[in-house]
Amino acid sequence: MNKKVSFSIWYVFLAIWAVILVHDLIHALQKIEELPYSEFRQLVTAGKVAEVAVGSQTLTGTLKPEGEAKEAKLFSTIRVDDQDLVRELNQHGVKFVGVIETTFWRDVLSWILPAAIFGGIWYFFIRRLGQAQGGFMQVGQSKAKIYAETDIKVTLADVAGVDEAKEELREVIEFLKTPEKFTRLGGKIPKGILLVGPPGTGKTLLARAVAGEAGVTFFSISGSEFVEMFVGVGAARVRDLFEQAKLKAPCIIFVDELDALGKARGMGPATNEEREQTLNQLLVEMDGFDPRIGVILMAATNRPEILDPALLRAGRFDRHVVVDRPDKIGRLAILRLHAKHVPLDPDADLENVAAMTPGFSGADLANIINEAALLAVRRGKELVGLSELQEAVERVIAGLEKKNRVLNKMEKERVAYHETGHALVAISLPGSDQVQKISIIPRGVAALGYTLQLPTEDRFLMTKSELESKIAVLLGGRVAEELIFGEISTGAQNDLVKATDIAKSMVKAYGMSEKLGAITLERERQSQFMQVQAAAEKGDYSEATARDIDCEVRRIIDEQYERAKRLLDQRHAALVEGARVLLEQEVISGSELRTIMEAH
Ligand code: ADP
Ligand code: MG
Ligand code: ZN
Repeated sequence: MNKKVSFSIWYVFLAIWAVILVHDLIHALQKIEELPYSEFRQLVTAGKVAEVAVGSQTLTGTLKPEGEAKEAKLFSTIRVDDQDLVRELNQHGVKFVGVIETTFWRDVLSWILPAAIFGGIWYFFIRRLGQAQGGFMQVGQSKAKIYAETDIKVTLADVAGVDEAKEELREVIEFLKTPEKFTRLGGKIPKGILLVGPPGTGKTLLARAVAGEAGVTFFSISGSEFVEMFVGVGAARVRDLFEQAKLKAPCIIFVDELDALGKARGMGPATNEEREQTLNQLLVEMDGFDPRIGVILMAATNRPEILDPALLRAGRFDRHVVVDRPDKIGRLAILRLHAKHVPLDPDADLENVAAMTPGFSGADLANIINEAALLAVRRGKELVGLSELQEAVERVIAGLEKKNRVLNKMEKERVAYHETGHALVAISLPGSDQVQKISIIPRGVAALGYTLQLPTEDRFLMTKSELESKIAVLLGGRVAEELIFGEISTGAQNDLVKATDIAKSMVKAYGMSEKLGAITLERERQSQFMQVQAAAEKGDYSEATARDIDCEVRRIIDEQYERAKRLLDQRHAALVEGARVLLEQEVISGSELRTIMEAH
């Protein structure tokens, strides 16, 4: 639909431009010379004008033939209110007539006709377009946009850091290469393979690599594309897809972002007829085909928990391959892979970068290398150094520096104390992530300043006291503002949101409150891979319990608030000095602040 609109707009522009061209062309063909009125008067005085037709707005006429030219030259000029004109014309013996102009035929010729022609062409195109899409009524034979790639260059060597997933997919590649070998021994091949993992870990890349490695056709379509379709088209597309694939076997059908299509039926506020029909069709097709013909169905999702259980049943997407965020060795491998074509300075130690980036996905890491290379170019360097890599890491975490966002002096001071507050609390509390850097250069969409804390190792569990420390660090900014200015600002809102979320999870999900005990009150469809929480269903607990939860959350927050306050009270001098240095330099490192703290 969108394509059509933009097509039309361009067409209108083109048509207007062409009409203007044609208009000028007709004028040029008639060889009418447009004269300024002053020149016309000079010609009259010089006795060079033969005839004039005086219209209400224009004067047109002919010049006396000059020299060898036999033809009289045509001219026209805009009529000006000139009382002397008639006298002048008489004086020089120019024949003149008054005419009531009808510009009708000229207009028809030069404007309306070309416009009509273009209108005609347009109409023709629209009809053609309609036919190509089978018209809106004829959805059955939709020639849907199915991408079929035959010669994929991506191989497993282009995917790093996810060795387990690669190992599991090797069997599939073997099968696609030599299906006979497998079927002869009666081996069973999974029909559907679901790649699950957080965004950016290389699921799409892996699916393509499997096709590339096996050298088979790769049909791909994205779940969200199905959903955008008109009623009935989605299902028709699925049918088409499978038909085409069967002709091209051995091949892979890949449904990216399966969750957009395969959300559990009846979930969410509005049921979506269209999506359900498409999903049903997919299930029907999956049941109907025999993998022995050499068609393998793959799909990717980052939210397996919301998929319709029917999709995961045996004989459908029953083989799950987890594509998780890489560990340190994996990160190093991915960094190396992407840095293959980037000239690195000997000091640019990728191991260092890998150590600094727990929790980063493959896409993040690829992004870091890219950003670092761009930075080096901007700085006029030949090689990418460690400083560019570090800056790129920060960029990926916190967004771009906004140097031109100017804070006034008061705001800057406040931000400096706020960030120093966070950092001091983090440094003082054991088990907090190490403070790398504190900055009051605005970054990203909303951050006016930030404290960069990076974990020192990959973590899979968090203890209660670590969570509490996290809350205290988050509240540290607000506490510092309160201590120094006696009043707080709006800058701490995001911190409060995060702190409250942690406290809530402690009470409701992890059973970390003594009052409520080891009980989980929240059985939401927690997302395994996404940071966002799926809309929390209110658990089935009583009003009294709800009140207890609120009390407990408040207690945890209050306790940590007091703790942060005590810490910063004791370190008042360090807070003042740290903020002063930060204001002066705009950026200080964690170790500098540590030194300041120890000195005071
Ligand atoms: P997903 O589909 O899981 O969201 P993509 O496959 O689209 O992630 O990954 C996006 C990009 O990030 C890839 O094109 C690739 O450049 C990079 N990338 C992600 N994971 C890896 C990996 N494991 N190895 C190499 N590159 C990766
Ligand atoms: Mg993807
Ligand atoms: Zn803050």
